[in-house]
Amino acid sequence: MKVYYDKDSNLDAIREKKITIIGYGSQGHAHAANLKDSGVNNINIALKEDSGSIEKAKSAGFDVLTIQDAAKDADLMMMATPDEIQSEIYDQFLDKNMKNNSALVFAHGLNIHFELIKPRDDLDVFMIAPKGPGHTVRSEYIKGGGVPSLVSVYQNKSGNALDLALAYGTGLGAGRSGMIETTFKEECETDLFGEQVVLCGGLTELITAGYETLVDAGYAPEMAYFECLHEVKLIVDLLYEGGIANMRYSISNTAEYGDYVSGKRVITNDTRKEMKAILRDIQTGKFVRDWMLECKVKQPNFKASRRISKDHQIEVVGKKLREMMPWIQKNKLVDTSKN
Ligand code: NAP
Ligand code: MG
Repeated sequence: MKVYYDKDSNLDAIREKKITIIGYGSQGHAHAANLKDSGVNNINIALKEDSGSIEKAKSAGFDVLTIQDAAKDADLMMMATPDEIQSEIYDQFLDKNMKNNSALVFAHGLNIHFELIKPRDDLDVFMIAPKGPGHTVRSEYIKGGGVPSLVSVYQNKSGNALDLALAYGTGLGAGRSGMIETTFKEECETDLFGEQVVLCGGLTELITAGYETLVDAGYAPEMAYFECLHEVKLIVDLLYEGGIANMRYSISNTAEYGDYVSGKRVITNDTRKEMKAILRDIQTGKFVRDWMLECKVKQPNFKASRRISKDHQIEVVGKKLREMMPWIQKNKLVDTSKN
């Protein structure tokens, strides 16, 4: 496996290029700010005319254009909009307007791998996919670090696509921690699996189920919140810093013994079987088909899930408890008025 760092890359490949970031959300705002701070000189943002993000991008000092106008001029366009609308954006605005021999760039491989977008032959098409949330791509960069990223070239019309991808990754700060060369298929399937099984789906269900078990048994919701949600970060910080043994070194022997005997009762052979089934649904395209169909009918299930989980007691109790810990709010990663 090839891993590239800043020393393997030259930012000059994109320094004077006209770069458009389409979308100014989680990834978009971070890409724009990091590239600018790295010395990329010509960045603008493309948004819909009625977009709620226009003011955010403008107050951060960026010019905002429509997607079709930006496309006519850009050397490189980063698709930083939600996955489910990318094919519509490509078909409506990019296919006929993108400059000949320019570059179309993705932060996730879904639309290319599952052929929702069939890019024009004359374009360079590549991916630089940060392995972390957009707000963290920004906050790590500010700290002098960077979020590791996956890089892959799908179409190399210019012959320079990898150099462009590595330069873009360096601008993002990814070259400080490593840019791993992969394929769109591998990035897409592992990314979907990771977020569904471990990082998002697995973790939130684990937290909620633990919380509900304690509250149902008569323990105070506040205690259950601290135990099952708040402390996750404290444990994850130790895992992040030095792996599983580093975390187990810090916890008590009692906690470590409980970890060995009870962890496997929570993640059972049935759970592992289900993980394999989820991976199969991702690989066969079933998951993406279901998600795109859900989007075609305006996301009723998705929106209801959001609404129901927002009202869960763990969220209500958590909000109250966090108000007593103002330092958590001080350096917030997410400020919805700005990013
Ligand atoms: P996001 O935050 O949901 O993107 C929202 C932005 O896209 C907003 O500025 C929104 O503008 C704009 N937008 C929405 N619909 C649009 C349209 N029809 N035309 C133009 N702009 C539109 O997206 P994201 O989560 O950053 O994801 C972007 C890409 O990065 C995806 O491919 C995703 O898989 C990938 N990725 C994301 C993360 C992450 O941390 N989120 C991590 C790795 C990779 P409005 O204000 O008008 O809605
Ligand atoms: Mg993802």
